[in-house]
Amino acid sequence: MSELSAGAPISPVSPRQATDVLAVARLATGFMPDDEGLALAGVAGLVCSLPAGGGGDSIVEVGAYCGKSTMYLAHGVLAALAGGGCRSVPVVFSVDHHHGSEENQAGWEHHDVSLVNPDTGRLDTLPAWRRTVESAGVEDRVVALVGDSPTIAARWQTPAGLVFIDGGHGHEPAWADYGGWAPKVVVGGWLAIHDVFPNPADGGRPPYELYVRALESGGFLEEIGLGCGSLRVLRRVAPGS
Ligand code: SAH
Ligand code: MG
Repeated sequence: MSELSAGAPISPVSPRQATDVLAVARLATGFMPDDEGLALAGVAGLVCSLPAGGGGDSIVEVGAYCGKSTMYLAHGVLAALAGGGCRSVPVVFSVDHHHGSEENQAGWEHHDVSLVNPDTGRLDTLPAWRRTVESAGVEDRVVALVGDSPTIAARWQTPAGLVFIDGGHGHEPAWADYGGWAPKVVVGGWLAIHDVFPNPADGGRPPYELYVRALESGGFLEEIGLGCGSLRVLRRVAPGS
C-alpha cells in the first residue's frame, strides 16, 4: 500500500492553479498581511512532506472569517503539489462559527457592517467564505467546519500536520483553542499562531501567551525562519499538549 493511498487522490496541479489561488487570497477580505500569508502558505506546503495518516492529511485553521488565510493555506498546498515530491495531499479544515469574534461585533474596531445578515442582524461571514473558496476553485481541498471551535476540537480525532490558531483573541477563546487544538499536532508537525505581539503596545496578550506556553511546554520548538511578523511557527518535537 502506498503512503498516498490513505489520503485524497492526487489530481495533477498546475503552478497556474496555485497562482490563481494566491490572487484570490490577496483580494479576499480579512486580517492577513501578504508577507505573513506567504509564510503561512510555506508551512502549509511543508505538510505535504508528512506521511498520509501521520498528519499529512490534514491542516486545521481556527478562525476562517472570509477565507483570506484559508486561501493562503490552500495556495501553499497547491504550490507544493505542483512542485512534486509530496508524500500526502492535505485537506484544509477551516473552523469558524462565522458569527465573528468580540472585536468584529458592532461598535468594535473590526466591525464590517457589510457582513451583517439583514434578516438576523448578526454577523455572518459564511457566505463570503464560500464565495472566496468557490472563486479560487478549491472546494475539493477546503472543508468548512461551521461551529464553536472548542466543541469541534473536543470531538475531533484526526491528527493534524498543521494547526493554525487565529480565532477569538480574548483570553478565554484563545486558551480554549490552544487547549483544544494544539494536542492534535503530530510530532514533526507545526503549530502556527497569528497576532503574537511580544510588546503589549502592539496588540492583545492572549496569542503571545499561547506562544510562550507552547515553548515552555517542551512540546514545541520555534522555527524562526518559517515565521513572519506576528505569525509564529513552532514545530512539535514531543507529544503532549
Ligand atoms: N484568519 C482570518 C481572520 C480570523 S478572525 C483571516 O485571515 O482573515 C477570527 C475568527 O474567529 C472570526 O471569524 C470568528 O468568527 C472566529 N471565532 C471566534 N471565536 C470562535 C469560536 N469559539 N468558534 C469558532 N470560531 C470562532
Ligand atoms: Mg489574525
